[in-house]
Amino acid sequence: MSERLPVEVVFLGEPFDREAVIHTLRHLAMRVGWTLRPRAERRIIYATTENPTEISVEEGDLVILSSQDVKRHMTDSRAGIPIKGEHGGRLPFYHPRGDDINKRGWIRADVIAGAHALLNLLFERKNRPEKEDGWIRFVEDWWMEAGFHKPEPLADLWLNSIALEAEKIGWPGVEKKGEDALFLPPGTIVLTHDVDYMPTRANHGMPRFLRAVLRQLWTRRSATQAWQVMSKYRKAFFQSVPYNAIETIADTETMLGAISSFQFTVKRRHRSDPVYDLSRYYRGEDDLRNLLHRGFEICLHGSYKAGRMQGGIAEERCELEKILGTSITGHRQHYLNFHPATFFPELERAKLEYDMSVGYNDMSGPRAGTLFPFRPYDIEKAKPFSVWEIPFILMDTTLATTYRFSSGEALDHCMEQIRPVEKSGGCVSVIWHQEQLSGLLDPGFDGTYWTLLKGLKARGIRLTSGQRLLPSMDELWRMSVEE
Ligand SMILES: [Zn+2]
Repeated sequence: MSERLPVEVVFLGEPFDREAVIHTLRHLAMRVGWTLRPRAERRIIYATTENPTEISVEEGDLVILSSQDVKRHMTDSRAGIPIKGEHGGRLPFYHPRGDDINKRGWIRADVIAGAHALLNLLFERKNRPEKEDGWIRFVEDWWMEAGFHKPEPLADLWLNSIALEAEKIGWPGVEKKGEDALFLPPGTIVLTHDVDYMPTRANHGMPRFLRAVLRQLWTRRSATQAWQVMSKYRKAFFQSVPYNAIETIADTETMLGAISSFQFTVKRRHRSDPVYDLSRYYRGEDDLRNLLHRGFEICLHGSYKAGRMQGGIAEERCELEKILGTSITGHRQHYLNFHPATFFPELERAKLEYDMSVGYNDMSGPRAGTLFPFRPYDIEKAKPFSVWEIPFILMDTTLATTYRFSSGEALDHCMEQIRPVEKSGGCVSVIWHQEQLSGLLDPGFDGTYWTLLKGLKARGIRLTSGQRLLPSMDELWRMSVEE
C-alpha cells in the first residue's frame, strides 16, 4: 500500500453539516490518496463566511468558500443546485462575494455542498412525493432547468477541482498502487443482468414473445424487427427454451474473462413483478447453483413495491438467502421504483452491502453526477448509510425503447458513455437484461452486448461483479480518514 497524504480539515464558521462535509470529502480522499485527520501540515479550510476578505489563512492552505446561503438551500429551498459559469467552469453555490477573491488555492464555490446535493439526489428528495409509486424521469430532475441536456459527472468534477487546486499550490501527488489502483484508468464496469423474465418448459417463453413482438410494433415502430423476432422465435422454439440465456451468458462471459451478477426477484407483490418462481430454477429444471460455483454473483432484484415498503427489501433478502442457502450482498430495485428518502434506510435495514439502482430509466448517464461508487448520506440523522451505491449509466431497454436505437447505434452510444469512465478510472454498472441476451427481444441487442464486452476487454477495462470490488472499496474508504 502506498503512502497517503495526511490532510486536515479546518472549519471556519458554522457549515451546513459538518459530518456531511467530511463524508463528501472522503470520496475525493479515497480516490486521490489522502487521509483526513485531526492534525496535518496540509489543510483544507472550509470557510462559511459572508465576508471572505476577512479570513486569514497560512501559506499552502487550500480554501473552500461557503456561505449561509448553502445551509438555507439544503434546509429550505426546493430549487435545483444553483450553478454559475459555462462548460468546464460550471460551479455550484458560487460565493456571493466570490468575484472579490482571486487567489491561488482558493475555491470560490462550495464544491463540496454541490457534490453532497448531487450524490444524495437532494432535488428529487425534496420535490417528489414520497408516497407515490414510480420513478423520476430525466426531465423531472433538476438538470434541464440548469441548462444540461444530459446527466454529467459534475460531482466528480467539483470534487476533483479541490485536488487540482491543491496541485497548483504545491501539495505533493500520491502515487497509487495496490488496492489504490481500483480507481485508476482504464476503469471498471460492473456487469449486471436483471432477470425480469424466465420461461418454463411448458410455455416456451410464449408470453414474453408476444410482448416482444408488440414492443417492436408499438414502441420501436418497426415491422421488420417484429418479423425478425417472429422468425428467430420460430427457430428457438424447437431448439432450446426461448428467453433463457443464463447459461449462454455465463459461458460467454467466462470465455471473455468477465464476471457478472444476476438480479432475481423472489416475491410477486404487484402486477409489474416478474412471474417466475426462482426456487424452481434453483432446485430443479435449470441448475442456477452452477452460477455461484462458477463465480457469478446472485443479487436481489427488489420487487416493484419493496423499495417503498417498510421491511420489504429485508423480507425479500431473507427469502432469497433461504432459496440460495448462502448470503447475498447486492441489490437493484425493479423498475427503479423508489424514493431517495425511504429507499436507503430500507437497504440499510436489510443489511445489504451495496445497491445499483441509481440511474434513469429513460436516459443514460450519471443520475447522481458521479462515475464512482459512493456512500449515500442520511440527511435526517446526519450520518452516512452503511451501504455503497454503485451507480449505473446504461441499460439495454433504455437504448431500445427510449432512444429507439438500432443495434449499431446502441453500440456507439455505449462506447460514448463509457469513455469518460475509462478516462477517469471510474467504476459504474451497466444493465443488460438476461432475456435480452436470448436474442429474442430487440433484434441485434444481444450482439451489441458481446461486441461491447470484447471492445472493453481489449481496452483493458475491468469487467466484474460488485461483490468482488467491495473489499477494496471498504479498505480505501477506511483509509480515507484517521480519527
Ligand atoms: Zn427489473
